[in-house]
Amino acid sequence: MASNKIQGVRGMNDLLPDEAERWEAFEEIVRDWLKSYGYRPIRTPVLEPTALFVRGVGEHTDIVEKEMYSFEDRLNGEKLTLRPEGTAPCVRAVTEHNMLFSQPQRLYYTGQMFRHERPQKGRYRQFHQVGVEALGFAGPDVDAEHIVMCARLWDDLGLEDVTLEINSLGDAAERANHRTALIAYLEGHQDKLDEDGKRRLYTNPLRVLDTKNPDLQAIVEAAPKLMDFLGEESLKHYEGVTALLREACVPYKLNTRLVRGLDYYNRTVFEWTTTRLGSQATICAGGRYDGLIESLGGKSAPACGFGMGIERVMMLWTEGMEEGPLSRPDVYIVHQGDAAAKQAFRVAEELRSAGMSAIYHCGGGSFKSQMKKADGSGASYAIVIGEDEVAAQAVMLKPLREEVEQRRVALADIAEELSGQLYGQA
Ligand code: ATP
Ligand code: MG
Repeated sequence: MASNKIQGVRGMNDLLPDEAERWEAFEEIVRDWLKSYGYRPIRTPVLEPTALFVRGVGEHTDIVEKEMYSFEDRLNGEKLTLRPEGTAPCVRAVTEHNMLFSQPQRLYYTGQMFRHERPQKGRYRQFHQVGVEALGFAGPDVDAEHIVMCARLWDDLGLEDVTLEINSLGDAAERANHRTALIAYLEGHQDKLDEDGKRRLYTNPLRVLDTKNPDLQAIVEAAPKLMDFLGEESLKHYEGVTALLREACVPYKLNTRLVRGLDYYNRTVFEWTTTRLGSQATICAGGRYDGLIESLGGKSAPACGFGMGIERVMMLWTEGMEEGPLSRPDVYIVHQGDAAAKQAFRVAEELRSAGMSAIYHCGGGSFKSQMKKADGSGASYAIVIGEDEVAAQAVMLKPLREEVEQRRVALADIAEELSGQLYGQA
């Protein structure tokens, strides 16, 4: 029977109502939180020119090497990619619309990202991020602002077991010096590197430090540390960020091997991780990317930002939450007969105008079967309208969640009466 049923794309999830309601509740908290720091929304398309990510994310990254959904536009051959991340598109839009002309910008976005990865718990091919970008700020105060605002969100959401790791990647010259030392060091251990390590040795040696291969841990532990190559300015920046974190009482751990997957970072990088999601442990990550705007064709400007994986944060936040709908309608309106149907339709609109949520019964049926639907809807009240009520210009008001008798209420009074019952005051 179901053999010709079409299934959704692997690694791309549907959010059914119970879950989607929790996402909406989360998004509301997130919007208030972002507003409280003065960040404003920006929305960019899910499709961008492929070149934006090749240049913006970096040619030798996992994302560009193997994770992008790219295709050629059938009509004009343009190379396009479903966005795998939000920073490059945000920078593209800000540059295109000259938004940094006279002032810096604090911006955020939420939305789908697409990466062709092996689907597993906490890792999907369509996933969602909250992204926050501060453009035109040289920091270190704004770097610290980003980290502190994350800490506040975890607090607002009541998340436990999230910890912060931080590192500095220095500037381009410092990284180049470190790179030379690192390549020389890794060449000395070349025979022990795995395939990824060998491939990255000359293209992206910093990423070798990022390996999760347990056999390589001893080698990467002993590798030259970027921290030891930082100059005075970069050190000062790092000290500036961490001083503000101490000031704000946000605990952090220096992880000298933290490098981040994207190429564009410099100086501050950070990750928030949890012990509760297995190996998909990073819920939020970000840092400074002073070179990106210029490399995408904009006028050089410093910037920093972070991205949060909503699926992973939702798993933590909803853990232990009661199941079922989050919201229930105030009232369910049942009716019988043509005149009653019309009256019920009008009453429903009147209640909505007064700020209540009302379900108008559709599809007919006996009073008994309609009342079953009313009960199942979770509504607090039923309004019943039959011929008698039409004749009396009234409705029956029946509490569904308490043992109280139904009673007749005049049509003219129902909105005030019901909202008084629901909210204590008309
Ligand atoms: P990971 O090391 O887990 O692959 P990443 O370094 O590729 O993460 P970023 O590009 O920094 O991730 O994206 C920011 C956040 O988005 C991550 O910390 C994570 O919470 C989330 N994220 C990244 N990829 C996925 C995915 N495929 N599915 C679900 N969430 C993801
Ligand atoms: Mg990844």
